[in-house]
Amino acid sequence: MTAIYLDNQATTPLAPEVFDAMLPWLKDNFGNPHSPHVMGRQAAAAVEVAREQVAALLPSNGRVIFTGSATEAINLALGAVRNISAQERNQIAVLDTEHAAVRDTALWYDTQGFETTLLPVDPQGLVAMERLEASLGPKTALVGAMLVNNEIGVIQPVEQIAEMAHRAGALMLCDAVQGYGRIDVPQQADLIALSGHKIYGPKAIGALWVRDGIELQPMVHGGGQEQGVRSGTLSPALCVGLGVAAKLCAERRDEDMAHIANLADRAHNLFGDWTVNGSVDQRYPGNLNIRRDGLDVARLMSDVRGVAFSAGSACASGSGRPSHVLAALGLKPAEIKSSIRLGFGRYNNIEEVEQAADLINQAAEKQLS
Ligand code: PLP
Repeated sequence: MTAIYLDNQATTPLAPEVFDAMLPWLKDNFGNPHSPHVMGRQAAAAVEVAREQVAALLPSNGRVIFTGSATEAINLALGAVRNISAQERNQIAVLDTEHAAVRDTALWYDTQGFETTLLPVDPQGLVAMERLEASLGPKTALVGAMLVNNEIGVIQPVEQIAEMAHRAGALMLCDAVQGYGRIDVPQQADLIALSGHKIYGPKAIGALWVRDGIELQPMVHGGGQEQGVRSGTLSPALCVGLGVAAKLCAERRDEDMAHIANLADRAHNLFGDWTVNGSVDQRYPGNLNIRRDGLDVARLMSDVRGVAFSAGSACASGSGRPSHVLAALGLKPAEIKSSIRLGFGRYNNIEEVEQAADLINQAAEKQLS
């Protein structure tokens, strides 16, 4: 049974153009991009074209490092604090609503001699700026703030957060996984992480953008690939896939945004009886996180098998943990359990949104009656 796919924050389908561009690198062009012969050099050239395509949507004064995922990119970025700790800065401050890739990694550093601060958000899910300012000081090594929240779609004022981090003498890491290719990334960030499979590219590839002058510590030791910090043979197919996905996002940005905003408008109307979690204005329209009092979402999901959607975040539901993001907004456990996340993307259409809303609303009514 094919479901209507409304879970574009968990992952996105591969764009047909990306699939076509990847194929030759999985078939005949199998050269190792680190080999000096002609096949190797062709593969290396394709990797460098992809790097430029990814970099075209990022600030100009930095470099792109390919990684196996955004999670890996974020781990690499956070590792920069080990250089900074030599300057007696040992605080890492991240938003309480960060994805586990940032939040749990920052909390791990707390067990390694660093002090991790989880920065609170207001009931709209936006960072409390005055609390942020008060939390930073001469000990702060790094501030982490995401561009678009993966669970509630809220867009953080990342440019201002970067300025505040710099005033304190700290680095700013932006997890741009849910925003890269769709909205502007912060020009002032020092480290920016992104992922292929959220922009209609392949899974198992991500990238870290690093501002010139920032030193990283190798995360994977070995042959010295990826500027010495991420050893291991690159997959030209995955790099090409990420590059073409980024290029398509740039070319289609206005068209994609208008389409997704249109789907979101329709969905907001169709789910008028539900309450939106997080800011309605400061939000990426492709995300709709909503709740209905009294609903058991686990039951709803098993009743509505024809729609692929999520209860809270895919990561949180996968782990069985209640959503730390919805809890940070101040939602009660019962409200968290009655929340669903719908994610609209490039390949959805209005009919799908209407059909999905019908199925979900009917099942919800039946459950609540
Ligand atoms: N950060 C955010 C905001 C995400 O949504 C995700 C994926 O869900 C990640 C990081 C991790 O990305 P990846 O799957 O490439 O490791």
